[in-house]
Amino acid sequence: MPEPTAAVPSNALSGIQSLPLRQRLRRVAPYFWGNLRWTWAGALLATLVGAATEPLIPALLKPLLDNGFTQGDLNLWLVPVFIIGLFFVRGVAQFIAQYALARVANDGMLALRKDLFERVQQAQMGLFARHSASALSNTVVYEVQTGAQQLVQAFLVISRDGFTLVALLAYLLYLNWQLTMSVAVIVPGVAWIMKTLSKRLYRITKISQQATDELAYVVEENVLAHRMVRLHGAQAAQNQRFWNLSRQLRSLNIKSTIASSAMTPTTQLLAAMALSAVICIALWQGRQAGSAGEPVSVGSFVAFISAMLMLIAPLRRVADVAKPLTHGVAALERGLALLEGSLAETGGTAQPTPVRGHIVLQQVGLQFGDDLAPALQHIDLDVQPGQVVALVGPSGAGKTTLVNLLPRFLQPNSGQVLIDGVPLPQWDLAYLRQQFAMVSQDVVMFNDSVAANVALGSASINEERVWQCLEAANLAEHVRALPQGIHTPLGHNASQLSGGQRQRLAIARALYKDAPILILDEATSALDTESERLVQQALQRLMQGRTTLVIAHRLSTIEHADRVVVMQQGRIAEQGTHAELLAHDGLYARLQAFGAVEH
Ligand code: ADP
Ligand code: MG
Repeated sequence: MPEPTAAVPSNALSGIQSLPLRQRLRRVAPYFWGNLRWTWAGALLATLVGAATEPLIPALLKPLLDNGFTQGDLNLWLVPVFIIGLFFVRGVAQFIAQYALARVANDGMLALRKDLFERVQQAQMGLFARHSASALSNTVVYEVQTGAQQLVQAFLVISRDGFTLVALLAYLLYLNWQLTMSVAVIVPGVAWIMKTLSKRLYRITKISQQATDELAYVVEENVLAHRMVRLHGAQAAQNQRFWNLSRQLRSLNIKSTIASSAMTPTTQLLAAMALSAVICIALWQGRQAGSAGEPVSVGSFVAFISAMLMLIAPLRRVADVAKPLTHGVAALERGLALLEGSLAETGGTAQPTPVRGHIVLQQVGLQFGDDLAPALQHIDLDVQPGQVVALVGPSGAGKTTLVNLLPRFLQPNSGQVLIDGVPLPQWDLAYLRQQFAMVSQDVVMFNDSVAANVALGSASINEERVWQCLEAANLAEHVRALPQGIHTPLGHNASQLSGGQRQRLAIARALYKDAPILILDEATSALDTESERLVQQALQRLMQGRTTLVIAHRLSTIEHADRVVVMQQGRIAEQGTHAELLAHDGLYARLQAFGAVEH
């Protein structure tokens, strides 16, 4: 099955929306579990100790009130020792818990981020058609971080406050089980509210993540196109676009806040109901004391009420935990969807040596989408080792698509491509790509030094060779004038260079790579005639002894080619030498006449 090449809109997230929270957590868990078991255990133990200290405060009140004021058989020195000791243990426990959970969050995030970035590097090219650059960077950089932090924060709340609740409830049961039963009424109510509201929260979170991506995309586009936006006076329209999305995001955030803040007052209301019930029952029990067994002392009443009031804060945090939990899981899931929804590129194992560069295309067809016209159809082409073949044709004819098949940037839907008689899928992918040097229409440079850009991908930079290549690409003079020579940083996408300089830098990069097959896709289109003439010599040298596919509009390039292949609407219309084609008086001759081929 050929992989979907590009422009196939598929939402990698759609499949997982319906999974219950437990299963969603299970998908995320491996990153935060693995070799972090002991860290978890430490965190859990620390929260357990911290939680156990909670009921000790109301427990202190009981003897204080019952005995401290009246009989005086309470050692006064014990009180500060007890209180300070309690808070010391509690503080240490809290510190350890926070620290251990931060370790879990950060180690998990590190592992997930590493996998994500490596996947982006290996993924089939369809990934880049499905997701914008801002969406990918948003997921890898921000969502993984906030997701991990929120998720672990949620676990801190669940464990710390969950244990605290258990400890306090146990103390309450010990004090007075009848009263405690009336408090327990809150629990199912709170659970129900949590469940209902968290479902809604999850849905809103998903939508707002997508809206955030779109918002980032608008910023990205406008930053990239800042000149055009100004020149065309498109600010108002772009501002409107940004404004609409921002507003949408605001209303989503407010909806999410409404859902999560509804939890607090509802739980408090339930707590108030329970509290009043408790007071009524306790007072009633107190009055009955003489007849009905267990009398309620002032100390135990106060201890009970304060332990009960202490329930409210952790209960509220547990009730609110749905928010970080759903936000965290939803954010991490986008990372997982990226990992699972984008298959890694696959290659074979063949590493033919030496590579001669014999390229054969057999009945190759390629379609970007079902509803699009085929970009290539029935292409048969045979390029002998060392031959220079020029591809010409009107724009949109499929020239770039054809050359992108060779390093397997695209996969054909039908037919096959062979190099040195070996079908491309059988080639070891990295080895296959080592065989190509490519200078394309859109030059891309890294925010690194000139030397690092020229020697891109090499383990060590041979400076002498960098200079030779710059010399050959007719760029050495310019680089020599730069403040740090070849060590000068280039800025984002080499924005400090002119279009022609960037193209010559790309040519130097291709020279440095010294690969057996050369692809030039309008490599000199940004050059003026004078620099082109100079670069042309460099290219001519570069082409020697290499199989070359050159897409060009300039006659000077085409004339030197061993063969000219004329493409139109995804097909090969005619081929032959420059002279033959002119004599044939077909499409090529017409292209010349209309100036599509420049002299
Ligand atoms: P050329 O390089 O000859 O100007 P291309 O090979 O770039 O032409 O494009 C050939 C056809 O394929 C064009 O009709 C173009 O619109 C289409 N095409 C190119 N890339 C994509 C893509 N990623 N998704 C959909 N259609 C594409
Ligand atoms: Mg093109």
